[in-house]
Amino acid sequence: MEKTPVHLVWLRHDLRYHDNQALYTAREAAQLDNGIVLALYIATPLSWQQHDMAMIRQDLIRRRVAALTAELAELKIPLLAVEGMDYDSCVAVIAQLLPLGVVALYAQQEYEVREHARDHAVAAKLHEQQIPCYWFDRLCVMPPGSVLTQQGDIYKVFTPFKRNWLVKLATFGVKCFPKPAVQSATAIVVPNLTPMQAGDNSSAGWPVAELEVLNRMRIFCQQRVQDYTTARDFPAIDGTSSLSAYLAIGVLSAQQCVARLQHEAGQQLEQEKSGASVWLSELIWRDFYKHILVAFPRLIKHQAFQTETDRINWPNDNRLFAAWCRGETGYPIVDAAMRQLNETGWMHNRLRMITASFLVKDLHIDWRWGERYFMSKLIDGDFAANNGGWQWAASTGTDAAPYFRIFNPVTQSERFDPSGDFIRRYLPMLASKTNKEIHWPHKPVTAKGYFRPVVEHNEARKLTLALFSAVKSQE
Ligand code: FAD
Repeated sequence: MEKTPVHLVWLRHDLRYHDNQALYTAREAAQLDNGIVLALYIATPLSWQQHDMAMIRQDLIRRRVAALTAELAELKIPLLAVEGMDYDSCVAVIAQLLPLGVVALYAQQEYEVREHARDHAVAAKLHEQQIPCYWFDRLCVMPPGSVLTQQGDIYKVFTPFKRNWLVKLATFGVKCFPKPAVQSATAIVVPNLTPMQAGDNSSAGWPVAELEVLNRMRIFCQQRVQDYTTARDFPAIDGTSSLSAYLAIGVLSAQQCVARLQHEAGQQLEQEKSGASVWLSELIWRDFYKHILVAFPRLIKHQAFQTETDRINWPNDNRLFAAWCRGETGYPIVDAAMRQLNETGWMHNRLRMITASFLVKDLHIDWRWGERYFMSKLIDGDFAANNGGWQWAASTGTDAAPYFRIFNPVTQSERFDPSGDFIRRYLPMLASKTNKEIHWPHKPVTAKGYFRPVVEHNEARKLTLALFSAVKSQE
């Protein structure tokens, strides 16, 4: 008897069934040859560890895969979630599935070097048996390499990139794929593979049902985006979408966000300072950093974009680094922010900028230490955005803050947490300080139970300027 053709969909950072081109295309193909779709997810904890992936993010993935299994079951699409080791194990897992009658593999493309090598190895394995692989370039709204200067070069500065990106959006629009059609009930006997294990439940506060996440995004675009321009910089306010964790693992696509925003905001998107257009800019930043990563693979190796800055001789004091990680620097806004990261796995964007700048330009620690620490804690850890953010703050990246622009953490605190509400939330020992004192609780003496400042900002600033000037003058 002829085997039923199996269209294998390998899910990775596209853990959703709405707007999933790989899944949708496989389902269409299966309808044509009376085949079935089998979805696959391979957990690779060893590779995750090599990427410094936070435990909370690992847990979010595991919980999301479990939820997606149930959601796909409604469409009668089986999802086989297995436990692998590292990326090498993916070839072996997929090879074991081929005898089921796999006729094609469908997956969303990924850009990092190790992921590329993994996919290459899988494609080579399938090629041996003349099984085609279809890769879909959907991680960005505009695929890397599609937004170029008139000379065909990659943009290294955000503003002209954004301008051209918007022209492309106006010209081509944004396409989202419908959910795949229900397939007829299928009994499929899969080989004996280790089922994916459950996580540690550390991400339990983050809902993982796809419709709930889509609904959050819809409500943000309908009701909250109007205030985004004014509210987005204040960490005490819930002024941003908090969708980054979902975008990072693909419960949601950036295309869905853009399409929904266009639908809800309409004309407001034409106004440069409207909440809708500022939020769209953030989604464009997301694309920008991924495009840069693909064009400059040396970034994956944690090299600086501005190569001369790799000659900076960072003092890298372990004691100062430990104080920063624990939130014990004596600078309340920095300490409260680091505690938000350690306690919740997420940190507000303004605080990411402040703490990153502080680590590099006040504590004189190599930005790569901070990049790695963030990755090991963030629920939304994403290589391109994290690397881009760190290199921006450290003045080593593309379109980075100029090196002589050094955030004053106390002024930042007064400006963006004026009433000290955010600081009080994470530093209860400062609860009784007045709104004015809380930003610098060291006069006349440090508040009881709080930490003395580990550095003096003005002195630290001078050293930063000297460290950068030394390498800039050699150019
Ligand atoms: P919103 O303000 O609602 O923005 C919407 C979406 O746009 C975000 O969910 C995110 O996907 C994207 N976005 C927003 N800002 C940026 C940006 N500057 N660069 C790229 N994409 C952006 N973002 C990550 O997703 N993962 C990271 O690992 C990460 N690390 C960062 C490290 C540093 C040092 C800095 C300065 C920024 C980093 N960011 C990172 C960007 C930004 O801080 C977060 O995306 C944002 O805080 C997430 O909150 P939100 O979903 O409410 O964002």
